[in-house]
Amino acid sequence: MLSYQQARDLVVSRTTARSREPQIESVPLLNSLGRILAQEIVADRDYPPFHRSIRDGYAVRAADSHLGTTLRCIGELKAGDTPAMSVPPGTCIQIMTGAALPEGADAVIMIEHTERVGDVVTLDRAVSSGQNVVPRGSEQSAGKLVLAKGTRLGFAQLAAAAQVGAAGIAVYRKPRIAILSTGDEVVDFTTTPGPFQIRNSNSVSLTAQSASLHAEPIVLGNARDSEDHLRAKISEGLAADALVLSGGVSAGKYDLVEPVLREFGAEFVFDAVAIRPGKPVVFAICKEKSVFGLPGNPVSTMVTFDLFVRPAIEILSGTLPSSLAFFEAILTERMKEKPGLTHFLPATFKHGSPPQVTPLRWQGSGDTIAMSRANCLLVIPPDRENIESGERVHVLPRGL
Ligand code: AMP
Ligand code: MG
Repeated sequence: MLSYQQARDLVVSRTTARSREPQIESVPLLNSLGRILAQEIVADRDYPPFHRSIRDGYAVRAADSHLGTTLRCIGELKAGDTPAMSVPPGTCIQIMTGAALPEGADAVIMIEHTERVGDVVTLDRAVSSGQNVVPRGSEQSAGKLVLAKGTRLGFAQLAAAAQVGAAGIAVYRKPRIAILSTGDEVVDFTTTPGPFQIRNSNSVSLTAQSASLHAEPIVLGNARDSEDHLRAKISEGLAADALVLSGGVSAGKYDLVEPVLREFGAEFVFDAVAIRPGKPVVFAICKEKSVFGLPGNPVSTMVTFDLFVRPAIEILSGTLPSSLAFFEAILTERMKEKPGLTHFLPATFKHGSPPQVTPLRWQGSGDTIAMSRANCLLVIPPDRENIESGERVHVLPRGL
């Protein structure tokens, strides 16, 4: 059986092979958070645009600034001022953080390292050329790359785009992710279920997980466990950029997702991965689209989305798939897990150095409530059975 890394690699390679550059749309900068940049953003001028002082102090000539040197202060420059005069030998100009270095000066001495009486400034140390100055164009020169195509726009990228004057930008259209739950027992979450029915929580988690990746969820509702109904719904779903199903992929008599996908000519890349929860997860290419059949148990659905659907959505969004952001924590209690599978267990971690992680009591992969109390997944590798309290383990933080 495939390990989760092998399965992820297959999702990445098979989805990449089919993905074309997404369509492009233009959006105001402040509406682009989380989107993928579809253009290059270049510097509109040198950055910094002038030799910029990064300290409050005095602009000096380094060559004649030593311990004990006295200089006559001949003026003042604050951020935004045009430096009108130059600094002849034997003089200095008081300068503030963010102001442009005046002609003649090549360094700034911090105000803390000087003493001033009237307009005479005495230095308490030597100054080297370039000290406390960021040279013009050293962050980036005019016309050169600031943000590459395919960059995901977070707050720092938005700030960089704003700095260089990119008020409206081209981003890739969000990939449309069709979401289809299955199961005769599943009813819409806004309705009251019969005594043996359950509300559709998977369509909700899948919608939320897709939206948090800045994809566009297309919620197709629920397919009954009938080949005809599944066929109709899957056909609808294949019009999207990718199709994500939940339920109907185990070995039960009414698990019909695989046979119906096969009718559509699906090529099954995998239909089991050595993980718990989520072992019967299916990945297929069907009519050129990536199709995922996630196990219906809600925690399995959530975990397998994060492991396998996420990288596909990232690729379809026009960016590179991110890797799993494991960190290490100290396990607070002894555990025993079935070997041969990588376990992804709902857990809580507490900040600290080192952080600590505690598995949640849960009733298995149907326990949505336990998952809602978790802030991470505790990862137990397949070669471990007994893990002692105090051991260092891997933890996967959970997104929104
Ligand atoms: P399945 O994978 O179809 O065998 O379903 C496994 C378990 O998950 C069963 O207990 C289902 O009732 C439950 N389940 C399936 N689909 C959903 C859904 N959309 N929302 C909540 N639970 C579900
Ligand atoms: Mg089912």
